[in-house]
Amino acid sequence: MKILVINCGSSSIKYELFNMEEHTVLTSGVLERIGESNSKLKHKWRTVGSRLDEKIYEQKIKDHQQAFDLIHRAMRESKVMKDLSELAAVGHRVVHGGEAFKQPALIDDTVLEGVRKVTPLAPLHNPANLTGIEIAMKIMPNIPHVAVFDTAFHQTIPEYAFRYALPEDLYQSHGVRRYGFHGTSHYYVAKQAAHHLNESLHSLNLITLHLGNGASAAAIRQGECMDTSMGLTPLEGLIMGTRSGDIDPAIPFYLAKQTHLSFADIDNLLNKQSGLKGICGYNDMREIHLQAQNGNSSAQLAIEMYCYRIKKYLGAYCAVLGRVDAIVFTAGIGENADFIREKVCDGLDGLGICLDTEKNQWLGSDCTDISTAGSPVKILVVPTDEEWEIAQQTLSLVVSG
Ligand code: ADP
Repeated sequence: MKILVINCGSSSIKYELFNMEEHTVLTSGVLERIGESNSKLKHKWRTVGSRLDEKIYEQKIKDHQQAFDLIHRAMRESKVMKDLSELAAVGHRVVHGGEAFKQPALIDDTVLEGVRKVTPLAPLHNPANLTGIEIAMKIMPNIPHVAVFDTAFHQTIPEYAFRYALPEDLYQSHGVRRYGFHGTSHYYVAKQAAHHLNESLHSLNLITLHLGNGASAAAIRQGECMDTSMGLTPLEGLIMGTRSGDIDPAIPFYLAKQTHLSFADIDNLLNKQSGLKGICGYNDMREIHLQAQNGNSSAQLAIEMYCYRIKKYLGAYCAVLGRVDAIVFTAGIGENADFIREKVCDGLDGLGICLDTEKNQWLGSDCTDISTAGSPVKILVVPTDEEWEIAQQTLSLVVSG
């Protein structure tokens, strides 16, 4: 059974085609810079003997329709499928599902309307997700399409944790509350952690740390999310590549008065010029690490601040959960940066979080336990796979009807 997963952004499209029985990726690709003169599609596919082939298409792609046409052509040329009708379903990543979508949804006009309705909450992402769905449904009209929402896993967060201390009307009339993001990743790594620990997810309390370019933490009690660090938007919480994470909410007003920056400028400042980039000028953790090792004091500070913020959330979520069975590191930084994991866990023995520094440096490609043998709280590194999780959720919805 084949399932295609599509993640359609405003200027890029990522896709992966899975053979579900074998858990293999048959083809995958990234098309970048839609709307620019130097658009590029990197298309990969598995050939006989499981070799991975790659072809780059470079040509101007003016819009999403052309982008989908090129992806379709690349799939035909690489002969990964005889016909699109071989697909059992298509899973679409949708960033914001608001309060309406607590589960994946089989896409019909009502679902499309529901996604459109919450667009003001994700003005950059949902319109692109919708465009992708609409074009894909035109190209593949007789195949079920499923929307899988980044926000859905966090819909179990209790009201005392998802509400902001603001006038109630802002919540009732404008939906101002914590939604949280990266839900597909938090859920996937939580399930993988439970599998690794040989326990049921419903018997475990976990803190999951998704540390990529965007970053978020989640407190998960017996399989249900209790709190997460991102809020109404992905700007809140941990320090990220270019996003500030938590700041005093009065800072934008102060800046507007002192510097005469517009709202749009401040939005851009907090989302694109802050975080690690704002502190040291670099947003890629590999470069920051190199700079720090070479004595760059801003890069050293960026790492200190980054880890300190994660530590504060770990402490808070230990209190939220009462008992923690495991902490899970995932995504680009969480999976690869041993120095970050070491700094985050340093001095947390009092909370039962004891890192084995040797295990921390030598990881396999699978789920790995990096805590000491006697550590009351396990520390796991779990590679995330959001596309596979979307494919699985799509499959279960299609199979269960
Ligand atoms: P995205 O959120 O775009 O999916 P990723 O999950 O790929 O991002 O994470 C990107 C981050 O992971 C970057 O900051 C990158 O520097 C960092 N990263 C990737 N590999 C390493 C590594 N070996 N050591 C340190 N950081 C790494």
